Amino acid sequence: MSPLPANKIEELKRQIQGEVLLPGEEAYESARQIWNATIDKRPGAIARCAGTPDVVQAVNFARDNGVLLAIRGGGHNIAGNALCDGGLVIDLSRMKAAKVDAKARRVTIEGGATLADLDAATQAHGLATPVGINSTTGLAGLTLGGGFGWLSRKYGMTIDNLESVEVVTAAGEAVKASAKEHPDLFWALRGGGGNFGVVTRFEYRLHPVGPEVLSGLIVYPMSEAKSVLKQYRDFMKQAPDELTVWTVLRLAPPLPFLPADAHGKGIAALAVFYAGDPKQGEKLIAPLRAFGKPVGEHIGMQPYTAWQQAFDPLLTAGARNYWKSHNFTNLPDALFDAVVASLGKLPSPQCEIFFGAIGGATTRQAPDAAAYGHRDALYVMNVHGRWDTAAEDARGIAWARDFFQASAPFASGGAYINFLTADEGDRVRSAYGANYDRLARVKRQYDPGNLFRVNQNIKPA
Ligand SMILES: Cc1cc2nc3c(=O)[nH]c(=O)nc-3n(C[C@H](O)[C@H](O)[C@H](O)COP(=O)(O)OP(=O)(O)OC[C@H]3O[C@@H](n4cnc5c(N)ncnc54)[C@H](O)[C@@H]3O)c2cc1C
Repeated sequence: MSPLPANKIEELKRQIQGEVLLPGEEAYESARQIWNATIDKRPGAIARCAGTPDVVQAVNFARDNGVLLAIRGGGHNIAGNALCDGGLVIDLSRMKAAKVDAKARRVTIEGGATLADLDAATQAHGLATPVGINSTTGLAGLTLGGGFGWLSRKYGMTIDNLESVEVVTAAGEAVKASAKEHPDLFWALRGGGGNFGVVTRFEYRLHPVGPEVLSGLIVYPMSEAKSVLKQYRDFMKQAPDELTVWTVLRLAPPLPFLPADAHGKGIAALAVFYAGDPKQGEKLIAPLRAFGKPVGEHIGMQPYTAWQQAFDPLLTAGARNYWKSHNFTNLPDALFDAVVASLGKLPSPQCEIFFGAIGGATTRQAPDAAAYGHRDALYVMNVHGRWDTAAEDARGIAWARDFFQASAPFASGGAYINFLTADEGDRVRSAYGANYDRLARVKRQYDPGNLFRVNQNIKPA
């Protein structure tokens, strides 16, 4: 790869309206920080683009000068693919503008927006579309990998609600992709990650949601975890699409509704969200309170935007994170034994294992309807290793890998591309399964030189 020649950087600075941040500058140092503090990359330059024309210039610059290129959306990707060492980063964090057409139930939003930006714009009209559970996550990376959250059982994956995109291809052309225009590219972008270009604008379909929703937590002690998990699994088998319940197993953070003597002790928390009439929701969630003897509960009506941010304090940027993930089509009892054993060995108070229930509308698309093909996944499990210091890395990573191995015999074999770490490039092909070969053909058409390769990479056919 060519280094960045100084005269060329001056040329790029003249070409773009946004800023070009360089090593040694204060703004560069903060711009190279991303969510996962284990990532410490030093790009040659960071082009903080002001709009699509800037992105076109930056793509042309990288391609013509043979410079390694990374794309930064929200910078949340666990593998650190928002950045590269040396090379150029296209940083979209200034591009967040949103426009809602409430009558048509559509939003168009720029490629650097976070989930919070989307929710703020759409909830002003009582509308929303399914996205993830941590509001500081980038909308771009989340969408391009598939995207799921509290609304997914009712309205599908984020990509199932994507109407069109504007994307700057490796040739430096800004094109619109939709079911009608560049349909192959649109198919590939719905799950294929950042492999096919820089998405500068997304258009989503919206649904009436809230503005207040029934949601919150029911918390059980770890001693009841296995029984709670078994009842949870059986409960979810008959839950309507409107009701989503995830389980989070960890040490209790000092939540005000938990008694002080529960803080720091093991818990199995049920995170509950109902996207419908709250009276009906109250009836439906009643059995969740009778799974055992809860140590605390905090459930009620709250703004949808508040629930979307409820987990943000536990997921702040700057900690060291290592993840391992599996998809499941069912949750056998033996898996719960492995969960409980693993929780007995938690390496830090910030580590957790969660089971996110998807299913519902996410399963009602054909596996080849879009590049994301895991339409059989009813649960996405994530072993979330998280701690503060590099000295804890080895122990934390070993813990996450151990549970990943212990739970593998019960998993479906599928993997969510957005949860793969930097050392899991060998899972990319299996993550796409039967869709991989078509993805490789689309890659050959739109990015034959693999310009966009700082990602979970799909090689051109
Ligand atoms: C705390 C936390 C909670 C999460 N919760 C959920 C969840 O509930 N549901 C869920 O589905 N996922 C969730 N995720 C995973 C999330 O979807 C991925 O981390 C995703 O990659 C984040 O996107 P980003 O734009 O912030 O990331 P980045 O690190 O900026 O980018 C991720 C990848 O996408 C590419 N990319 C970014 N922007 C663009 C663009 N505009 N055009 C083309 N390529 C681009 C990058 O090059 C990179 O390869 C969570 C992640 C975190 C850290």
